[in-house]
Amino acid sequence: MKKIIIANFKLNGNKKFIKKYILKINKEINNDKYEISIAPPIPYLYMTEQLIKKNKKINLTSQNIDINKIGSYTGNISGKMLKDIKVKYVIIGHSERKIYHLENNDLIFKKILITKETKLIPIICIGENINEYNKNIGINTCIKQIKFFINEKNINLFNKSILAYEPIWAIGTGKNANTKYIKNMNKNIRNYLNTLDKKITNTIRIVYGGSVNINNFKEIIKINNVDGLLIGKESLNIDNFIKIINFNNNQK
Ligand code: PEP
Repeated sequence: MKKIIIANFKLNGNKKFIKKYILKINKEINNDKYEISIAPPIPYLYMTEQLIKKNKKINLTSQNIDINKIGSYTGNISGKMLKDIKVKYVIIGHSERKIYHLENNDLIFKKILITKETKLIPIICIGENINEYNKNIGINTCIKQIKFFINEKNINLFNKSILAYEPIWAIGTGKNANTKYIKNMNKNIRNYLNTLDKKITNTIRIVYGGSVNINNFKEIIKINNVDGLLIGKESLNIDNFIKIINFNNNQK
């Protein structure tokens, strides 16, 4: 399975910026090494889809999904609508949605279910907060979060999904976790999943997110068990993002 690099624009960008961004990537991407996915704000998903249509190297991620399928739910976006405009992945359980939109595990679980039911692929975010990090119990937190979603007999739910290990204290702070720590966390998450079902675990990519930038990505992307990157702030810097996706491990 290819490693994946996902650009999460969050609440940034406009029509002009996104058009320029995608046209530049279309022109300058020269690497087949990674799968590339772009998560613009929802109003720009369709426009982005039109711009990447002929580019097989890039696909689309939605930053959100609703748990309802159709009907009187003002302001929401259904899985079917996302599917209709060729979205492939959906970010679920991002700490910013937990903090600013009070999303809890019950809701996140329902979002994972509807995402799978719609044949979209969830990017499920897990990660410890700063207190848990300081107490060195990050792995316990992540396993607890995973357990909530899979009730140990149903790891099938994670089949072909992406798990984004994102220490909350590293998101948007400019302080990434160090490589040794990431290596251990991703390895331990994978080891835990392996105890449940080796075959399904092999289909799950565990990516890292949290202040990845042009200076630290090379070290992080090559870590064993880091199957990709989820990049927020730095993905808005088009020149740096292109350098990241065009990076080939053989380069220094
Ligand atoms: C994110 O959006 O998940 C993220 C990791 O953001 P940043 O790269 O800005 O820390």
